[in-house]
Amino acid sequence: MARPIRAEVSLEALRHNYAVAKQHAPRSRVLAVVKANGYGHGIERVSRALGPVDGFATLEIDGAVALRDRGFAGEILLMEGFFEEHELTELFRARLATAVHCDEQLRMLESAAAGEALDVYLKVNTGMNRLGFTPGAALAALDRLQASGRARTVTLMSHFANADGPQGVAEAVRRFEDAFPGVRLPRSLANSAAIFAHPETHHQTVREGIALYGATPFARRPAAALGLRPAMTLRSRLIAVQSIEAGETVGYGSTYRAGRPMRIGVVACGYADGYPRHAPNGTPVLVEGERVPIAGRVSMDMLTVDLSAIPGAHVGSEVTLWGSGLAVDEVAACAGTVGYEVLCAVAPRVPIVEVA
Ligand SMILES: *Cc1c(COP(=O)(O)O)cnc(C)c1O
Repeated sequence: MARPIRAEVSLEALRHNYAVAKQHAPRSRVLAVVKANGYGHGIERVSRALGPVDGFATLEIDGAVALRDRGFAGEILLMEGFFEEHELTELFRARLATAVHCDEQLRMLESAAAGEALDVYLKVNTGMNRLGFTPGAALAALDRLQASGRARTVTLMSHFANADGPQGVAEAVRRFEDAFPGVRLPRSLANSAAIFAHPETHHQTVREGIALYGATPFARRPAAALGLRPAMTLRSRLIAVQSIEAGETVGYGSTYRAGRPMRIGVVACGYADGYPRHAPNGTPVLVEGERVPIAGRVSMDMLTVDLSAIPGAHVGSEVTLWGSGLAVDEVAACAGTVGYEVLCAVAPRVPIVEVA
């Protein structure tokens, strides 16, 4: 018998969540964001599940090339662009669309072989202060790009720092539009949060990441309330049950102490599987479909739960760590993080099982 942990990925949920973005942005192209191996779901699997989408967006060039070589004919956007000049050969060959966010990339593109051209997303920094030309430098960059002859098409791009929160996007949008007075080129601004919360930012192309996987981009709007379905359900089983006396402690550091005689369930899932080690006592887990709290520190290969509420639980009982019936966002919040990080952290040793 293999260790019972596995991640079930629902191909139907991926298709559904893509359709949700299409409903919210009906006049835009929806790029499916598949960076970080499809947020831990497997880029090949996600692309196969989705079939003929409007396009994909990612960061890893090898993953983008593999998508192309498997036969996807639509747009594949590199959201950080290329890193070294020699990579341009591969971008041209695989017809990858690329962000251009800095002078160095612009120079490399200008010195590339004549006769080759790419779809370029000119990225402007509207307040995130990670990537992008300053608004003041954006028009000159656009001129250089168009003069280079290496841009088959140009889309104006930015990425929001606060599309999910109360601060919103108004200031970022103002900076963006001020950078391109009167320029009538296609635009791409919206991430998942903006797809739901800021329809005025949809323009020609939106980029759906976390919502595609059925998790929420918002702190206070659950994924289910957005009509999303969890694409991944992390499942395992109880591999031991301990009956302990009042006063006994559980796990490393003895951070949980039994106030009465109780049963502790041992789940085959730990931080080496990607479960967040910082999930404290009380973090919910489903055993036989019932919510029970974590009791004791999450260790490398196991975690422990209080089985008081389910006397029938036994070795072999089915456990859900997150997904169907328990939002990954709720587990993430208990651990002080977001669904994004938890999904991306699922370890390679966890087998993925595809379900309809
Ligand atoms: C990751 C990423 C996205 C997707 O963001 P979500 O919040 O997951 O929808 C969109 N645009 C850029 C530039 C990104 O890096």
